[in-house]
Amino acid sequence: MSNRIVVMGGGISGLSAALLLARRGFEVTVLERDQAPPGELAAIGDWHRPGAPQTRQLHTFLGLFRQHLRTHLPDVLEDLLAHGAEEVGIATPSGEAAAGAEDLVVLASRRPTVEWALERALRREPGAEIRYGTSVRRAEVQDGRISGVLVRGGVIDAGVLIDAAGRRSPLRDEFTVLEGDEECGVVYNTRFYRLLDGVPRPPLKRGVTTMVAGDGFGGGLFYHDNRTFAIGIGRLPDDNDLKALREADAFDQVTALFPEFEPWLRDGASEVLTEVVPMAGLRNSLRGLAPEAPLGYGVLGDALCTTDPAFGRGASVAMHQAVMFAEAFAGDPGSLPGLVREVTARAKEWVRPWYDDSVQADFVRTRLWQASVDGHPLPQGAGVPPVSLFSLMEAGEHDPHLWQAAQRVAGLLAPLDSLDTPENRRRLQEVWASGHRPQPPSGPSRADLVEVLAASSR
Ligand SMILES: Cc1cc2nc3c(=O)[nH]c(=O)nc-3n(C[C@H](O)[C@H](O)[C@H](O)COP(=O)(O)OP(=O)(O)OC[C@H]3O[C@@H](n4cnc5c(N)ncnc54)[C@H](O)[C@@H]3O)c2cc1C
Repeated sequence: MSNRIVVMGGGISGLSAALLLARRGFEVTVLERDQAPPGELAAIGDWHRPGAPQTRQLHTFLGLFRQHLRTHLPDVLEDLLAHGAEEVGIATPSGEAAAGAEDLVVLASRRPTVEWALERALRREPGAEIRYGTSVRRAEVQDGRISGVLVRGGVIDAGVLIDAAGRRSPLRDEFTVLEGDEECGVVYNTRFYRLLDGVPRPPLKRGVTTMVAGDGFGGGLFYHDNRTFAIGIGRLPDDNDLKALREADAFDQVTALFPEFEPWLRDGASEVLTEVVPMAGLRNSLRGLAPEAPLGYGVLGDALCTTDPAFGRGASVAMHQAVMFAEAFAGDPGSLPGLVREVTARAKEWVRPWYDDSVQADFVRTRLWQASVDGHPLPQGAGVPPVSLFSLMEAGEHDPHLWQAAQRVAGLLAPLDSLDTPENRRRLQEVWASGHRPQPPSGPSRADLVEVLAASSR
């Protein structure tokens, strides 16, 4: 039996897992259906990625992602920073550093830039091989064990197959079962820009992002590498009045309504890099191995779990699971087929609370937005809200302890159940007792957006 590990998919999870495993001495082959990234980072915007269309959407890389890079792949982090990515502190709302909060740092980078750096590092590993333009058609199974994969031109032998092929993995129906599946309830429209040379970077509200909340919609500006940034606006899938957001002119007129975006978009500040790219059909999904899945088959990243991009968790989850695989695989190659099944089960249980949280948060947001769209906005609760990521995030604007507790969880650096402590409850009450309340959206209303969109279509 071959000792080769085949990784199906060269996205964030596949590249990270392959790199970590190659550095532990395993023979790894990554098979990626898309073409290779360009050699020069300057051409990264032209990289055609039909296999991972979300690469054209705005991304933020949370604290956990940056921490794993720092700990396990420091050369990749260094390379990213040397090529225009930035580390940005989030220890306080204003981004100042604070003692004991050195982990509260996020990475500003476009998603393809991260893949570019991971693949550069992988290419330097003697035990690793990456084949682009190579689509896995099916897994080869003998006596209930993985024996290889079929690609055009024949079979590649393998003892282990790690499925990192994303949300549309071709093996998902055969070897995995859905354990949870809920609509995110949002459609995103995103456009990328670059700040022109000499233009100072306008302020960001939180870390690398400035979020805007509306009555029935939401949006954000994400700062990336090399002075690039993206603006995304989310709407309900059935909100046809906002559908025209996917048109460039209409999108530009809407983004111009937000005071937070104005310094970035005003004449002479930035240039447009892309069209408006819509992304619909998003789901929170959690999968587990099917009982009949062959020995030697494992899953990670989006192929195992997807969560609403609004929380920016996907890449961190993918990287964390890659680390889980690599750490478990320290033993001899013969034990890997059994281990891969066990690690997949553990990776699924690790991500489950984040999946549940995304489902719950999407449910609440969808209800709020739908009520606004229907013209009957839900009243704000009068009393102290229960402890949650969002209530602590809001209150954290006035209490650094709550801010850090919320940011640590938002960055996946601490578990969700670390939020509900007697101290956090007491502090939340104190913030409310002092009269601070979450501010209602101050920017344009949905009616303003609808009016602008209707006018732009005339
Ligand atoms: C709108 C949007 C915004 C997002 N924003 C964020 C964010 O801000 N922060 C964050 O952390 N995450 C974000 N995400 C999620 C994040 O992009 C994903 O979680 C992440 O891409 C998962 O990586 P992956 O490697 O598991 O899957 P993918 O990135 O989907 O990679 C899978 C790879 O497998 C390849 N492949 C597929 N089939 C085959 C085959 N048969 N043979 C060979 N190769 C194959 C594909 O071409 C692709 O390269 C966002 C997602 C969306 C949709």
